[in-house]
Amino acid sequence: MTTSSLPRTVSGIQATSDSLHLGNFIGALQQFVAHQESHDAFYFIANMHAITVEQDPTDLRERTLRTAAQFIAAGLDPEKSTIFVQSQVPAHPQLSWVLECTTSMGEASRMTQFKDKSAKQEHVSLGLLTYPALMAADILLYNPQMVPVGEDQRQHLELTRNLAERFNYRFGETFVVPEAQILKATAKIYDLQNPGAKMSKSLPSPQGRIDLLDDAKSLTKKIKSAVTDDGKEIAYDPQAKPGVSNLLTIYSSLTSRPVDDIVADYEGKMYGHLKVDLAEIAVESLAPVRERTEELLQDRAQLQAILDAGAAKANEIAEVTLRDVYDKVGFV
Ligand code: ATP
Ligand code: MG
Repeated sequence: MTTSSLPRTVSGIQATSDSLHLGNFIGALQQFVAHQESHDAFYFIANMHAITVEQDPTDLRERTLRTAAQFIAAGLDPEKSTIFVQSQVPAHPQLSWVLECTTSMGEASRMTQFKDKSAKQEHVSLGLLTYPALMAADILLYNPQMVPVGEDQRQHLELTRNLAERFNYRFGETFVVPEAQILKATAKIYDLQNPGAKMSKSLPSPQGRIDLLDDAKSLTKKIKSAVTDDGKEIAYDPQAKPGVSNLLTIYSSLTSRPVDDIVADYEGKMYGHLKVDLAEIAVESLAPVRERTEELLQDRAQLQAILDAGAAKANEIAEVTLRDVYDKVGFV
């Protein structure tokens, strides 16, 4: 088996849309790319989580490959990171079952994501409720020290830690209890039209969401029509000025410049100036990702080969953990 002396990290993104958005990019993907240098990194496309809400099979297949292409286009190197598709590693749903039986109904139904998403569905699947147990399995199978996610996943990570501790207490040391890695500054990118809500793939808000695969024209239009706040002053104040503050967060993370420096540059200027400049910056930052994604999608056999190799490596590690768990719970 391949082993690495580096600390391990695991994270995933759902295949719920053709394009990832700026929240996924800043909150998750950019961290994934940074950590592949210092960690034994496992990143997966969560197609099993995607069917907790209704998905069209043709779209799901396409979105799985498109998400993989965007991982690589954003800077994940298949030589450094293990990139794979969740459904190609059967230990994920297998461990999930054991963890579902470790989770109480009360815990699962208290999850904010369940409450939010179930309120938006006509048909609420059981999978939407048990989602956090599958997510705990996704993570615990690999015994990672650290899991980079956005703020919205903090509660699920907390549950994952509780499940790991509970299992270890009941059956003996089995899982590493992982730390969530949530970067305060970029943990929650907000919808441009509704700065009270997080930018999301599954919300019907194309105007408020910046997609990585948007062309220059629509990127510019969305940024220019972002909702801003009362007053004129460009200041970072997420409570009083959520719209402008969100633009400043995006500006800062795309340029790697501190927010305070950016605010100082715009002293005495109008919101419009900030938007024009940010639109240019976003176009410049995202165009290469879009072009590289399109290029990668030209050779689907090559993409599939990367995912197959990733799944083989993930399976090797996941099966060892699963066997240990099955043995401990008394499965013959
Ligand atoms: P969906 O609406 O289908 O749940 P999503 O946009 O929430 O899609 P996920 O695939 O659920 O994206 O999440 C992938 C990763 O991106 C997670 O780590 C999540 O915390 C992070 N993330 C999602 N939205 C944002 C956001 N607006 N800001 C920062 N991080 C985010
Ligand atoms: Mg989500």
